[in-house]
Parts: sequence; structure tokens; C-alpha cells
Amino acid sequence: MIRLKSAHEISILRENALILCEILQGVLEAAEPGITTAELDRLARELMQKAGARPAFLGYRGFPAAICASINEEIVHGIPGPRRSLRDGDVVSIDIGIERNGLFADKAESVIVGQPSREAAELIEVAHQALCRGIEQVSPGQRVGDISHAIGSYIESHGYGVVKRFVGHGIGRAMHEDPQIPNFGPPGQGAKLMPGMVMAIEPMIWKETDRGRAENEEVVLADGWTVVTPHGQVAAHVEDMILVTETGHEVLTKSLIQVH
Ligand code: MG
Repeated sequence: MIRLKSAHEISILRENALILCEILQGVLEAAEPGITTAELDRLARELMQKAGARPAFLGYRGFPAAICASINEEIVHGIPGPRRSLRDGDVVSIDIGIERNGLFADKAESVIVGQPSREAAELIEVAHQALCRGIEQVSPGQRVGDISHAIGSYIESHGYGVVKRFVGHGIGRAMHEDPQIPNFGPPGQGAKLMPGMVMAIEPMIWKETDRGRAENEEVVLADGWTVVTPHGQVAAHVEDMILVTETGHEVLTKSLIQVH
């Protein structure tokens, strides 16, 4: 069931989204060569505590940390660890969530640690452009499939692969609400967008190889969480929270994140 948000809930969601952007900015600024993902997780927890926000991922289905930190071929749900040091040129994707005043916020960003390679910069640019294409579709009367199709067709036409098993979602009083928002699929299908809906849209991509498409699916590792690319390709994951307004949309996580 899709829950439309009241004006009061929207004002809290807006505040939470901006608080989360500031926290994520702090975490990303610390993502320098040599730091471990466990240290980034600790920093995220400190920043959340200062902001009066609860780490939404911690304990979610048993997840042991406040952030997901996914390095290179890890796409999403990487578990922070004291032996996972960031190295120059790594692509690290940080997914982060908070709960405050009964409402959730969720955002992800991929950045390059230290010196960027051209390939990594292009990967992250394609992920952002795909997210923008999806967001452009958000207005009353459009359907979820229009978002999915805009994202998926952009990604695939640029020679990138897209995660099928994990999807975007509604967000509000729960972190994951209806509707599910896949990053692929035909337009014109799925739930109709209505003012008061809030969604987390989150493409997860990797550069395709010339191997057959049949084996080009993401894989979940034995830890039960970490999702990796099919052939070790570097991955990116970006996520924004979008409100459907009377006339279009508002990006709630709108602060532009600048790193290094
Ligand atoms: Mg999410």
C-alpha cells in the first residue's frame, strides 16, 4: 500500500533528508586513502548522534553497522570492517539512513578515493545521469515504470549493467515502503505517481563486459549482505529522495555533495 504523506510528515522528511546529506558529506570528506570503512562507520554514528538521529540501518534485519560501505566490485550492502582500508583510486559507495521524529531518510553516493581514473569518473557520471533521468519522470500521473524505464534505458544504452534484484522504494514512517522502483523495465506500467508520495530512487550499475548477458547478474556473497558485480567490474550506487508535488517533484536530498 502506498502511503501519501501529510504536510507535517513532509516537513520532517525534508529536514531529515537535509540532515542526512550533511552527515553523508562529513563521511565522504573522510574517505581518504588509509581510512578503514569501520572508521567511516564510527564517524557516521557520531554525526548521527550529534544530529539527534538514529542510525536506521543498524540492526535492520541484523545489519551490523550504520552505513553500507561498498568498495570497487562491491555494489551495495558492503559491511564496514576494521581491515577494509580505502586505497588510492578505489570507488567507494556509501549508503546511509537515519530515523528521526518517526520518519526515515535514505541516501547513497559513490566517490573516488584519492586520484580518479577516467573509467571510474565515467562510471559515477553515468550513475548520476541515470538517476537524473529517473527523477525527471517524477510528476503526478506518471507511472513507476516511467522512472524505471528512463533509468534502465540510459544505463544500458551507455554500455553499463544494472542491478535487477535490489530496487528503489517508497520511504516515510518505514525505511522501505511501497512502491518498489526497479531500475529497468518498460514504461507506462506500475503505480501511478500522486502528490504526497516520497520515493528513494537508487540506480546501481557497473560497466558491461562483452560476455553473454545471461551471466551478467549481480551476486550476493556468503556474508548474506555484500552484493558484487558478475565479473569483478567496479560498481557505483547513487540514491536520492524525491517528493511528488502537485506540479512535479522536489528532490529532498538536494544538497550537492562536494568531496575533496
Ligand atoms: Mg534505499
